[in-house]
Amino acid sequence: MVTDLAEKAARIHADLPVVDGHNDLAWALRIRAGSDLEVADPCNALDGYQTDVPRLAAGGVGAQFWSVYIPAWDATPLRSTLEQVDLVGRFTSRCDNLEAAATAADAAAIRARGHTASLLGAEGGYCIEDSLDGLRRLRHLGVRYLTLTHADTISWADSATDEPRHGGLTDFGEDVVREMNRIGMIVDISHVSPDTMRHALQVSDRPVIASHSGAFTLAGHPRNVPDDVLELVGQNDGVVMVNFYPAFVSQAAAEHGAGSFALARDLQKRLGDDAAVEAELVRLLLEDPFPEVTVGDVVDHIEHIAHVAGVDHVGIGSDFDGIDATPVGLEDVSTYPAITMELLRRGWAEPEIRLVLGENALRVLAAND
Ligand SMILES: [Zn+2]
Repeated sequence: MVTDLAEKAARIHADLPVVDGHNDLAWALRIRAGSDLEVADPCNALDGYQTDVPRLAAGGVGAQFWSVYIPAWDATPLRSTLEQVDLVGRFTSRCDNLEAAATAADAAAIRARGHTASLLGAEGGYCIEDSLDGLRRLRHLGVRYLTLTHADTISWADSATDEPRHGGLTDFGEDVVREMNRIGMIVDISHVSPDTMRHALQVSDRPVIASHSGAFTLAGHPRNVPDDVLELVGQNDGVVMVNFYPAFVSQAAAEHGAGSFALARDLQKRLGDDAAVEAELVRLLLEDPFPEVTVGDVVDHIEHIAHVAGVDHVGIGSDFDGIDATPVGLEDVSTYPAITMELLRRGWAEPEIRLVLGENALRVLAAND
């Protein structure tokens, strides 16, 4: 019986256009390999990372949004973000199975060729350096979404994991959202405060995403999405893409990870070096690991969001290579078939599985093309 299910899952999965909303490989390569693809080459098996091209193929990934993330304390965030865009461009052209995509139609055509489409998303609105010109420059380079904040409240938007200062967006923050709508850049409401989520949804006239977020009802971490916002995302025709990080997946892990963004900020002040901060966070987590979470816990988020927002409004945004712990059964980018298998086990039909694992995300991308 389990074998039958596994066979069915493998058959369905082989034909799926898996679209993942958020992967931090570019940041991991910057910190751990100095952005040198001779040191760490994702075209081949990459030990110690959660992502490489052979495993993307094994996971059936048809399109990957690569996050071009830079921390809020970076002194030259736009320049550093451009370096990250360049890094993704370099590994995309280096690896035979990756192809750069600008639109949803590109992504579908690349998947039809059996390759993985490379899409770009920028994380943390400070990267535009308070300038709509900075925003447009990123769009020209193919960046298709902007996560309005990361862990810190910025001059024009409140983060979920910092002091709120604006009650959502400022007037300039509203201008950013309207300009994103105009130029075809998806508004990403991951990381922002619930008030910023509601404010962005009020201003945006295009479907939005949460590129890597869970449901607050199931895991009460401040950066997860509350039910009233899930309903608004449904009305907006957007998509909430479920994050695999334990702190956003189970209530026990959310309590364990509640202070991690503040801790990272504090470590940054003390150590002053991104690689040292990440090494210290990994060391602390080894000492005191998260309570275990599983594929089933992640699928609970998919089902909750499908129930509250609608099955057309849920997707996946693993956060691989931006996370220092993973659910059991979802350890790297080769493991997406485990989600297909769990959804089948719970009685989901193939058309709905296709929506969740990729088609919803492509619909929202197309609506912003
Ligand atoms: Zn993030």
